[in-house]
Amino acid sequence: MADDPRPRVFSLYKHPVIVYEDSPIIIGSIIKDLGAVMPLKPEKLQFFRYMLNQKINELLSDAEKTVSEMTIGKENYPDPNDRASLESDRNFELRIRDRERKLIAKMREAIQRIDDGVYGICTSCGCDISEKRLIARPVTTQCIDCKTKQEKLEKMKGE
Ligand SMILES: [Zn+2]
Repeated sequence: MADDPRPRVFSLYKHPVIVYEDSPIIIGSIIKDLGAVMPLKPEKLQFFRYMLNQKINELLSDAEKTVSEMTIGKENYPDPNDRASLESDRNFELRIRDRERKLIAKMREAIQRIDDGVYGICTSCGCDISEKRLIARPVTTQCIDCKTKQEKLEKMKGE
């Protein structure tokens, strides 16, 4: 093992996971091992960068698929009723895509924060955001306490 320069051990897992540069990580199976609150090490930032990039690629390939399905779908529904339901399907799809576009933008901002060295730091109080929270919401900019406070405040203003 030691003489192979390629594998690297990700130390954020209780059980070390060996990661090859050219092989994808199965993220779901290792997330459950994470949990401790501590400043993010370079390996962890790399992990989040990888996760965010994966998500962006997934969303982009989904979007491409929808566009091509929509183009094919047009000719396959000569019946007006079918066409109407296709139209509403399409509106639904487009709304989803809009939300996904915003999500992709947020993910790119998160990657930018990794590059800037401020990822995982709460923008309100400057504390570390817990890893659990970052994994659940990798695009978050606030720790759970600040987010909860903000939501309470918004609710009060709304009432
Ligand atoms: Zn905070």
